[in-house]
Amino acid sequence: MKVLVAVKRVVDYNVKVRPKSDNTDVDLANVKMSINPFCEIAVEEAVRLKEKGVATEIIAVSVGPQQAQEQLRTALALGADRAILVNTDDVLEPLSIAKCLKAVCDSESPDIVLMGKQAIDGDNNQTGQMLAALAGYGQATFASELGLEDGQVRVTREVDGGLQTLSLKLPAIVTADLRLNEPRYASLPNIMKAKKKPLDMSSPADLGVDTAARVTLLGVELPAERQAGIVVEDMAQLMDKLKNEAKVIS
Ligand code: AMP
Repeated sequence: MKVLVAVKRVVDYNVKVRPKSDNTDVDLANVKMSINPFCEIAVEEAVRLKEKGVATEIIAVSVGPQQAQEQLRTALALGADRAILVNTDDVLEPLSIAKCLKAVCDSESPDIVLMGKQAIDGDNNQTGQMLAALAGYGQATFASELGLEDGQVRVTREVDGGLQTLSLKLPAIVTADLRLNEPRYASLPNIMKAKKKPLDMSSPADLGVDTAARVTLLGVELPAERQAGIVVEDMAQLMDKLKNEAKVIS
């Protein structure tokens, strides 16, 4: 069984992001970049499927700049067998990324596509769903458990107020939620071995994908600063402040 894992290069989750001085976008100058955490969970799940003998090959794919090779090498160090970079310096929107991934699905014919539920940079939560629609695959988003049986994938999803269990025909798309697994760290020997694993390059143009933007980013800004709170002496003082200062009760 062939597993395709989509991996996005994003600002590291420990970085406190700031807007550019003209507020046109997030400032990425000298900022640490990493694999999107939910994509890391998707890679881990693929590796576990291979360790169980269910998956035979794991292909990591990323759409992005040359530097996204770093994140693909990390996926290779974690256990992917080979990687594909669809190289572009443009910041693509989810529909264009989904079209690139669809072209990769057409040439690779994976049995299952594992993705993150969401990229922590744009918080779009769109690419998996769009890819499922474009490829005509079934989809299970927000997966917290995954198992394969009788040529089907069984997925437990975290939904409001509970869990939902689905069975999907293959090929299928599953997007990973936080509790699906706890990703391992790449060992030094595996990081070294990953340098020699195959990494193929193509571009959206090679794949015949129209990447014209349909959405314009108008600006980004930090949330308003919150004022420091105060500790009130007692309930009477709280009621007085709510009534006379905040004026939220009468
Ligand atoms: P998003 O829809 O942007 O929140 O991203 C959801 C998931 O789609 C990510 O966790 C990735 O698995 C995949 N994805 C999004 N953008 C890319 C990209 N540029 N390259 C590879 N995979 C991506």
